[in-house]
Amino acid sequence: MTSRSLPYSRQDISEADIAAVTAVLRSDFLTQGQELPAFEAEFAAFHRLPHAIAVGNATQALHIACLALGVGPGSRVWTCTNSFLASANCARYCGADVDFVDIDPATRQISLPALSAKLEAAQRIGLLPQVVIPVDFAGLPCDWPALRTLADRHGFKLLQDASHATGATLHGTPMGANWADLSVFSFHAVKVLTTAEGGMVTTRDAVMATRLQRLRSHGMVREAADMLAAPDGPWSYEQQMLGYNYRMTELQAALGRSQLRRLPDMQARREALACRYDRILANLPLRLPPRREGAQSAWHLYAVELDDTALAVTSRKTVFEGLRAAGIGVQVHYIPIHTQPYYRALGFNPGDFPAAEDYYARTISLPLFPAMTEADQHRVADTLRPLLRG
Ligand SMILES: *Cc1c(COP(=O)(O)O)cnc(C)c1O
Repeated sequence: MTSRSLPYSRQDISEADIAAVTAVLRSDFLTQGQELPAFEAEFAAFHRLPHAIAVGNATQALHIACLALGVGPGSRVWTCTNSFLASANCARYCGADVDFVDIDPATRQISLPALSAKLEAAQRIGLLPQVVIPVDFAGLPCDWPALRTLADRHGFKLLQDASHATGATLHGTPMGANWADLSVFSFHAVKVLTTAEGGMVTTRDAVMATRLQRLRSHGMVREAADMLAAPDGPWSYEQQMLGYNYRMTELQAALGRSQLRRLPDMQARREALACRYDRILANLPLRLPPRREGAQSAWHLYAVELDDTALAVTSRKTVFEGLRAAGIGVQVHYIPIHTQPYYRALGFNPGDFPAAEDYYARTISLPLFPAMTEADQHRVADTLRPLLRG
């Protein structure tokens, strides 16, 4: 058996990707050239949407998405506690109050019954959220039609954190194309499509798209038609709101365009690897990742849970350490956000969202990336088997 270490994720970079980035380095524009609008147009077309706004990472995307939706001091924003910190932090950047919703253990995503009950209770006391941020955990699409129904009933905006779900579909429809008001994608190096660091916001709403473009670049406009005062000359620009420098470079955009062309192939590869994991892990005391009728996961993560049989003889920590000691790069997704010291200081406590906490106590994300081999997968299974017997 090899002792080569197996990462939990690895970017998939082709010669075409390298050529695309190199071409930008030889060109006149390293930033604010033509690659960025081309990447945005191609990403939007891929998702069957009119507007895509690229930024430096998905955290920036979530921040300006919250601002574009009008989130500010005193706003109430809810998200799912089984997510990366950014899903909640984005609302805190705007001065909003954050609250969490527990998961459905079967899907590991925001629980619809818990969300419905919390909304009914909030409606009775007049404290409904302005925005809810569901997360397509592991790349599996949430039940977006049901979430849309709740949003329409209770009058909140849906901000989709699709950071895991680039390329995922629900009944054949790409993420972002329907249901959510704004959708955010991450292109961090561990995600399914990478620009090293990068993010995107998509929307069907032209007014939102303009607002997002301005928030990304200092709140500035350059076209005379958009200005409030007559321009002094062709050099004129006007700041009309407070914005940021959240721009994506040409190098990243060129890499993103090249990766987007390869996304269907990389996606098919992830699906095949996930199916093989399902087969070779089937007899172990594990709960394997859920699937949903009509949903194609992007398979950002392949996260298993130790079942009660396994936990009777060993612990998640022992199994995790055993895999790491064998050179297998496992991770845990996620420590429930509400249990972080920062959020505890805001009044949250362990025990507040028991399903997410129980999931956290059992879960391990196994290596999954397009260049992984069949032999790599058998090595993972062969290492897991004795560890699970304690
Ligand atoms: C990766 C991730 C983010 C943040 O993405 P960055 O591009 O690293 O800022 C946000 N939400 C979720 C669920 C993520 O996994």
